[in-house]
Amino acid sequence: VSIPVSMAVLLVMVVSRFLLKRNRSMFFQLKQALIRREFVLQYQPQVDANTLEVKGVEALVRWQHPEKGMLYPDVFIPLMEEFGLINGLTDYVIDASLKDLSAIQLPEGFHLGLNVPPSYIKAPARWVYLRQKHREFAAKGIRLGLEVTERQFLDKEARIALETMRQVGIEILLDDFGTGQTSLSVLQETKIDFLKIDKCFVDSIGHESVNTPVLNAIINLGKLLGVTMVAEGVENEIQANYLLERGVVLQQGYYYSKPKEIGDIDIRLSHKPEL
Ligand code: C2E
Ligand code: CA
Ligand code: CA
Ligand code: CA
Repeated sequence: VSIPVSMAVLLVMVVSRFLLKRNRSMFFQLKQALIRREFVLQYQPQVDANTLEVKGVEALVRWQHPEKGMLYPDVFIPLMEEFGLINGLTDYVIDASLKDLSAIQLPEGFHLGLNVPPSYIKAPARWVYLRQKHREFAAKGIRLGLEVTERQFLDKEARIALETMRQVGIEILLDDFGTGQTSLSVLQETKIDFLKIDKCFVDSIGHESVNTPVLNAIINLGKLLGVTMVAEGVENEIQANYLLERGVVLQQGYYYSKPKEIGDIDIRLSHKPEL
């Protein structure tokens, strides 16, 4: 069946108008949500697997939608990136986490990990803001770390920005390690403080898969580079022990704790695994 060209053109126009309209309404909803401060933070402990002490937390953003309830970042972060709203959200997350953590008593040197996109780090106006916030965190004994995902990490501009941040004492964590294509030379050129082993590698522990030898290689690479490793997505004792035996002491995952509101996290007590 062949459709006349004019019909096809009309169809494309109707569909794209529809998509544009839907996009525009999504844009306004997200912008409204920022203005109305509908985003909330949960925190997931990063635990020393030897002592079960909580060494820090990662802040994870949620959208408390007035009708749809709690929405998770996979649903709205990509849209906010597309619409150019992500830097505004990042400002909000930095500010809100400072308020949250200021409200509780924390041990000196406690870590806060924030997920920060490269677009944010590359904007010079944000450097000033970040440095100011870093000083405010430091005044409360909190070490600020930026979690930058490996997939977005690589261009030169971003690396220069990260080095600038590092020089003032902000820590850099390479997130989702192993899922992107970082070359060894880039890892040698770019100084990072932490390397976060992606959940997909942790998942492979206990049932051999193609990811198991890659996991072992990543651990060896981390040791070679002399960076501290953090494992994400640790869900059971077998995974926890496997990692610990290989020197991955800092661990994060449901085995220790799901992300929770700041007031619900046991900061001072040793952590009993939940499962
Ligand atoms: P991520 O940085 O890799 O964060 C880890 C995700 O794994 C979180 O999902 C966390 O809740 C989940 N998780 C932790 N432990 C376990 C476990 O043991 N088992 C399982 N199945 N899952 C676990 P979440 O909170 O839905 O966040 C998803 C992604 O959204 C994050 O991935 C991060 O890339 C992004 N994100 C979260 N908060 C922010 C933010 O404030 N700003 C930006 N730019 N991105 C954010
Ligand atoms: Ca992260
Ligand atoms: Ca991660
Ligand atoms: Ca991940």
